[in-house]
Amino acid sequence: MSTNSPTIPPDVAAHVLFHYGREGGYQAGGFTESLVTAIDRSDPANRDRLALGFPEYVAAVAAVQYDPNGVAHLQDIAAGRCPRCKKDDGPIAESGLCEACAQPMPLDGVA
Ligand SMILES: [Zn+2]
Repeated sequence: MSTNSPTIPPDVAAHVLFHYGREGGYQAGGFTESLVTAIDRSDPANRDRLALGFPEYVAAVAAVQYDPNGVAHLQDIAAGRCPRCKKDDGPIAESGLCEACAQPMPLDGVA
């Protein structure tokens, strides 16, 4: 399995949540629904191949299947909540965290 996990966009999180019948999702189009089904049923070799073209979807399906907190994480993403501080009032940065959480805090207390 790949070690670097791509950032999962909100619509991808919502599509995968819907596929697994979880709250916070909404239905994808026909192709995407079929794609999520294919990833869901894929063996590791085929999943690696699908990940070349659809890394976000493979990461989101793997989160549901292998991560005990994966569903909650996808629900945060789909709702636009920061997965770290759970606030939804800030802009979400490239990393998927809110701006405040994405900014590294200085550890030496420089103010
Ligand atoms: Zn945050």
